[in-house]
Amino acid sequence: MPVDRKSLDNFFKNFSGLESYEKEEKCFGKRISTYIQGQKWVRRPLVISPAVCSQYGWLCINTNLLECETCGAKLCTPEPKIELYESYKACIEKILENLKASHKTHCPWPLTPAPEFLLKMLPMPKEESLKHFMRRLKCSLEFFSHYPKLKEGISSILGLEKQHVLELCKIANIDSENANHFGISAVSLAATGWTLKTLSSDDQKVFISCDNCQRSIWSRAFNSLTNLKIEETTDSQNDINGPNDENSSSSKIKRLKKDDFDPTEEHRPWCLWIATEEHRSSFHSSDNKISSKEVSEMDNTPGWKLFIKSLLRNVSESQESSIENNPSKEHIRSARGLLDTWTSATE
Ligand SMILES: [Zn+2]
Ligand SMILES: [Zn+2]
Repeated sequence: MPVDRKSLDNFFKNFSGLESYEKEEKCFGKRISTYIQGQKWVRRPLVISPAVCSQYGWLCINTNLLECETCGAKLCTPEPKIELYESYKACIEKILENLKASHKTHCPWPLTPAPEFLLKMLPMPKEESLKHFMRRLKCSLEFFSHYPKLKEGISSILGLEKQHVLELCKIANIDSENANHFGISAVSLAATGWTLKTLSSDDQKVFISCDNCQRSIWSRAFNSLTNLKIEETTDSQNDINGPNDENSSSSKIKRLKKDDFDPTEEHRPWCLWIATEEHRSSFHSSDNKISSKEVSEMDNTPGWKLFIKSLLRNVSESQESSIENNPSKEHIRSARGLLDTWTSATE
């Protein structure tokens, strides 16, 4: 089979290591942001998600207009009424076609779109998943006091048992006291695409961010692991000093009633961490349940599940090797046998 330029380029884009991955992800993220600012694209169906349009180099100018960041071509993206479903569908299909067709001659995007791994989670070798996991975890550790409390039961949903969490903390050189304190939050967040970070160097606020869907939420919007007690004290102090009317007590309740963080719920619907193939082919902006029995099981697996499966291979491996390092009875017996032969030979 002859190798064409497109597949060769895609090959290199997909297999050229962490550094170029980060570079691709950053450029992709910049384009994605143009769709999110001002919620310009929020009602659009998942089949033309910001990720799909960004893959072909398009920036969002407004709800009805995209522009190629390289050749400057413009693409009109009318938004017909969904009530006229046939013409609505035809219109979306035309936009999909134009994502490739509307560039100016020689523009590279139609032939070399952004790599597939930015749109969906691909199965990866365990070493690769560990690298990505560590990158997010190490960045986040700087802000460990901002780790949110996770929704109850989430670690069993994610399939991250206590033993896995402790092993992964060990690989990341987190001591056991810290591992017991914030290990579950740290590991679950890094394993589901989240990083704790400040958005600019002079900013004090710490955000929980996804580099794929560009969602960033202030960490203090959720219950924190460390600050629950402190907040309660501050609130009761405010209560003593401030006016004791109904308004202030209701605002107090509002402030205390924060949510626990759910790492699978906070991504945008098209984000590779949660979207399945079924979501990605959806022509409805909100309806996620289009039943189609032809989608294979892997196509219906959310990204976090694929990633954690690969990540945990690092853990089961390290457990196996620690078993290997402990000499078995069999090993001791054969070593003793050798020693006996050696001593009898030298006598
Ligand atoms: Zn172009
Ligand atoms: Zn996301």
